[in-house]
Amino acid sequence: MSATSSREADTGPGPAGPGFARVLLKLSGESLMGDRDYGVDPRTVETIASEVVEVGRAGTEIAIVVGGGNFYRGLKAAAEGMDRATADYAGMLATLLNALALQDALERLGAQTRVQSAVTVSEVAEPYIRRRAIRHLEKGRVVIFAAGTGNPFFTTDTAAALRALEIGAEAILMAKHGVNGVYDGDPHADPGARFLPELTHLQAIERGLRVMDTTALSLCMDNGVEIHVFELADGNIARAARGERIGTLVTTATDDDG
Ligand code: UDP
Repeated sequence: MSATSSREADTGPGPAGPGFARVLLKLSGESLMGDRDYGVDPRTVETIASEVVEVGRAGTEIAIVVGGGNFYRGLKAAAEGMDRATADYAGMLATLLNALALQDALERLGAQTRVQSAVTVSEVAEPYIRRRAIRHLEKGRVVIFAAGTGNPFFTTDTAAALRALEIGAEAILMAKHGVNGVYDGDPHADPGARFLPELTHLQAIERGLRVMDTTALSLCMDNGVEIHVFELADGNIARAARGERIGTLVTTATDDDG
């Protein structure tokens, strides 16, 4: 899949420029925290929302999978003694808090939005229905997918890969908090860590690089979903959606790749 591949036949006119017709944006819970240690920073959410609105106005259909790590992580709670599956369900509910905050910020900026949840919370969100999500996107609505995959032992990265495939997104945009792409080490701990402008899914899996977790990466690899990893900084979401090369591009290997 590429920025130039055509989806016009089944999804409407698409973007005016060379950008993607449809993308899946993955936002971690942490990316909504701003400088806080916990929860949601309203100004940060508003900044992200304004970029998402810009992407939509430029003609790219955009769906968002939001994480919940700013409130809760199942793995951490399980390490502290809680039953893992129960903790993971709590984590899924945490993503809903973020989805509603994001929805609110988007609607205050005039966007039309729908939250679809993978666990039933009918008072606040639609259930996840693939065909309905696609219809919303075709109508120019921003669709926010909450509650991950709806299953414990998974992450919202895997939800991003899964939903991207289900809605036929051309790329996953992974907006990262505090890092501008993929490195061969932890750039915060190791000053010698090298930035990797491009790599394959398999290289990321084999080298344990921090793009997404392995389940999510292998799903993307098996289905040829490209991933753009970049820093959540001013204008980058819109840049990536326009098809500009920023950060690291993760693609499947071509024949001449080593
Ligand atoms: N989670 C889950 N299944 C899913 C997605 C999420 O059980 O399909 C739970 C899991 O406990 C995870 C938490 O929800 O720790 C928050 O999601 P994640 O850690 O992926 O959020 P992020 O790191 O993106 O903020």
